[in-house]
Amino acid sequence: MAFLSDTLSRVKPSPTIAVSNLAAELKAQGKDVIGLGAGEPDFDTPQNIKDAAKAAIDAGRTKYTAVDGIAELKQAICKKFERENGLSYKPSQVSVGTGGKQILYNALMATLNPGDEVIIPAPYWVSYPDMVLLAGGTPVIATATIETNFKLTPEALEAAITPKTKWFIFNSPSNPTGAGYTRAELKALTDVLLRHPHVWIMSDDMYEHLVFDGFEFCTPAEVEPALYERTLTCNGVSKAYAMTGWRIGYAAGPENMIGAMRKIQSQSTSNPSSVSQWAAVEALNGPQDFLADNVALFLRRRNLVVEMLNAAEGITCPTPDGAFYVYPSIAGCIGKTSPAGKKIETDEDFATALLEEEGVAVVFGGAFGLSPNFRVSYATSDDNLREACSRIQRFCAGLK
Ligand code: PLP
Repeated sequence: MAFLSDTLSRVKPSPTIAVSNLAAELKAQGKDVIGLGAGEPDFDTPQNIKDAAKAAIDAGRTKYTAVDGIAELKQAICKKFERENGLSYKPSQVSVGTGGKQILYNALMATLNPGDEVIIPAPYWVSYPDMVLLAGGTPVIATATIETNFKLTPEALEAAITPKTKWFIFNSPSNPTGAGYTRAELKALTDVLLRHPHVWIMSDDMYEHLVFDGFEFCTPAEVEPALYERTLTCNGVSKAYAMTGWRIGYAAGPENMIGAMRKIQSQSTSNPSSVSQWAAVEALNGPQDFLADNVALFLRRRNLVVEMLNAAEGITCPTPDGAFYVYPSIAGCIGKTSPAGKKIETDEDFATALLEEEGVAVVFGGAFGLSPNFRVSYATSDDNLREACSRIQRFCAGLK
């Protein structure tokens, strides 16, 4: 349609949201569908956080706020960075937006010119390449394979850097693989970045708190303090505090970067919801002990899913360090034919046949830039996971 912009034609709708919508649609039609597509915890926001939001409403904290966040929330964020990451930021170095998504988008919008390149390790969170395209930049995909547990090697990072590179996007633990970089692995990457002073680092730490088996979370500005001046450390309350619908994300970095992001936000959405900001103050300042319970729950589910998927014919499922996803390979299923007669040539064919024939909704690997794989979100009940994995096992056993 001539009316639509060229920019729009460069991006695609989020495939993960599409899978969730399709699963919901099939369910509404009465079909027996188990959705393993959702990227959000299946439990409720803690009560103390809800109470803080209610109190904010009753106290009339319902007006416009400062564009990139109230002082109380910026203080809470500074304390969080100090307490959990050993990073020292002033409130003027902090930006609060409507979800982690807006924060990343603001930063790209504020910095990219046509021709600027952004290095994105694959498998990647679906929104990174499209956000870069929306902001007028060029995504440069640096692939990490299953052999390195989906983690980018320093050699692959080095090879992707050009004089046009503006950002390197780093995400650990990762969506979609759950892979987490150890301190040594991250140090190997920061050593490369030290040699390229024109490259900035956008660290997406959204899954920081969801880590297993004693995995030690670390973030670039802390691992290599010499990169502090060109790192934007991004985080949010969505995943750790089960607050996806409240839409609060934040970042800390150099003041001029934060100011540039504020300018974009001031002319697009203005402040994130005032009530949600007060809820986020409570999330960050309040008790944190429930996090351990959530992690224990996710760990149990991770183990269940990894074990059951590895028992399925043709599937290899690495054990992730964190988040609530697994990213199994289906190399052993490619070229076969499904019980209903569908030829499985790609992971998209696999996901479609699995949904149609067994009523299990997963997201195909092509959406995340590494095939043939699929992503399972195990943020659903043990019963659902057991049933879904049995169906996947049955589907795979029926492949000819
Ligand atoms: N970064 C990653 C890696 C994510 O998986 C998500 C959400 O799925 C986000 C950022 C965005 O989070 P928010 O819901 O706070 O916008």
